Amino acid sequence: MFEKILIANRGEVALRIHRACRDMGIKTVAVHSTADHDAMHVRLANESVCIGPPAASDSYLNTAAIITAATITNTDAIHPGYGFLSENADFAQMVEDHGITFIGPLPEHIRIMGNKITAKQVAQEAGIPCVPGSNGSIDSEEEALLLAESIGYPILIKATSGGGGKGMKSADNKDQLIEAYRIARREANVAFGNSEVYMEKYLQRPRHIEIQILSDIHGNVVHLGERDCSLQRNHQKMLEETPSPALNFEMREKISRTACQMIRHLGYRNAGTIEFLYENSEFYFIEMNTRLQVEHPITEAITGIDIVREQIRIATGAPLGFTQSEINFSGHAIECRINAEDPKTFISSPGRISKFHTPGGLGVRVDSGLYLGYTVPHNYDSNIAKLIVHGKTRNECLMRLRRALDEFVIEGVKTTVPLQMELISDSDFINGKYDIHWLERLINDKKFIEN
Ligand code: ADP
Repeated sequence: MFEKILIANRGEVALRIHRACRDMGIKTVAVHSTADHDAMHVRLANESVCIGPPAASDSYLNTAAIITAATITNTDAIHPGYGFLSENADFAQMVEDHGITFIGPLPEHIRIMGNKITAKQVAQEAGIPCVPGSNGSIDSEEEALLLAESIGYPILIKATSGGGGKGMKSADNKDQLIEAYRIARREANVAFGNSEVYMEKYLQRPRHIEIQILSDIHGNVVHLGERDCSLQRNHQKMLEETPSPALNFEMREKISRTACQMIRHLGYRNAGTIEFLYENSEFYFIEMNTRLQVEHPITEAITGIDIVREQIRIATGAPLGFTQSEINFSGHAIECRINAEDPKTFISSPGRISKFHTPGGLGVRVDSGLYLGYTVPHNYDSNIAKLIVHGKTRNECLMRLRRALDEFVIEGVKTTVPLQMELISDSDFINGKYDIHWLERLINDKKFIEN
């Protein structure tokens, strides 16, 4: 087992990883920017190293500084969390080249899946249905127009190196397509340094269903069920639940089996998530994330499995501690992402936390690095907390979630708590009747936050 793990991340996920390490008796090293010197995970870690100024490009993305920090602290392994360097194949390779274990998949698998075109090719080879679209990149406006005719509008242009919903633009007709193609390329170039795009049919009422996978280096593969992440704004998830209200037992089995099939085909190891769109009882692969997901705690809630702990065990070469039939799925779980943002305009709201009280009680988990007096910096992602609630049934979970959101006190910054409260009180949500466009329709209809 590792003696010491460096956590190459910040915020709630850094704390999440620290907790798993400490539960396993492993020492932690926090790395942080100058803006994060008083962050909770830095305070709790056994050691900490400042790796640069606030800008992420100079600190949390500074590979040389992170590997130097790992070397001088005699670290055995690095956990990248999510975001930042977690899906950077060169970083994973560099870590291994320095004799340090990268807690994640092989660099080649990060590379293949990080490119959405090669990822779709792998899915097709494994016999998994994909959203109808281009076979590869779209390299000219003429090509885009021609292909759109054969696929049929509406169309979605997506960035090959995409992530976080960036570089994605829909089009209902030819004129919009030209514009979408240009904007998506530009956005992709700014966000990922790669302007390559591809095309998919723009599905009208799908749900986002993803399967959590764990696999070890001995070829054992298990799934931990699905997460329904259809509640999104700007293609970014806001609330996730498991099990999905839209799937029956047979469909759940079918999608999960398909995801395992892909993992076996690839020879993939560690934790991963296969994402699908689900519409009219058909499911289509869209992408794979080769890392821990933000929404992993809802899966932990219904399975009792600590996914970060399993990631660490797998990275040591240990076999999975359970078989598929030994995994018990119990009850229902929902996660609300709480962001430091104005709930009406979504403009980020950094600042000093002047009042803070977290909800508690049976089935309530709060993953957050906040504390009274902490200043949320303006330099990073606006997520400041995740509220995860578990109940025996979906109804019990919803009642508990409402109660927990009600108890949550965060003052000094604006948060999306009021929006989450409105959302979970809507009858469509209560009845489980929503798709990936539902939340935006609701926000646009101004049904929300009319105070
Ligand atoms: P990213 O890597 O940027 O998150 P994804 O491919 O995972 O991109 O897609 C993010 C979200 O965008 C999906 O969850 C879904 O809501 C929407 N989306 C992606 N592809 C399609 C599609 N073909 N039709 C409709 N919506 C889509």
